[in-house]
Amino acid sequence: MGLRMGLWRRRPAQPALPMGEQLTELGTVRIVHRSAWWLALPAALGGVALCWLWWVDPRQLALPLCMFHHLTGLHCPGCGAIRATHELLNGRLLAAMHYNVLWVLALPPVLYAAASETRRFVLGRPLPGNPIGRPWFLITLAALAVLFGLLRNVPGYPFELLAPPV
Ligand SMILES: [Zn+2]
Repeated sequence: MGLRMGLWRRRPAQPALPMGEQLTELGTVRIVHRSAWWLALPAALGGVALCWLWWVDPRQLALPLCMFHHLTGLHCPGCGAIRATHELLNGRLLAAMHYNVLWVLALPPVLYAAASETRRFVLGRPLPGNPIGRPWFLITLAALAVLFGLLRNVPGYPFELLAPPV
């Protein structure tokens, strides 16, 4: 042990880090581990928002759910996502897909990527197979969103199935 430690070079002084952060060195890659407490507020806010969305039917709200749709009459790729999330939280998968099928299908990989990034944030290691670091993931998601946004505004069958029910 002493011999191994004797072979290590002394590290140069590191700059001071903010409270709650630790620094690990892996070769030349420096990873900052932040405290899990930094996630507490966004997680709490997200939890409250999900509880509210589970309880409140967004169709009953007087406010427009999408300003783009309110101003143009067209459906953006995200139109229906809030109502779809409400349906998902209440266990109605098919109803959720009627409101925004792209949102429902994209949720599993997006949630996995979010969980992986959270793990990377806290522990410094992502989950295996994290798609967020691969360029094809975001490019594919963006291309699908643009295509979906175009097709759901084409009048007539079958494209009208992609538009959220009014
Ligand atoms: Zn919209």
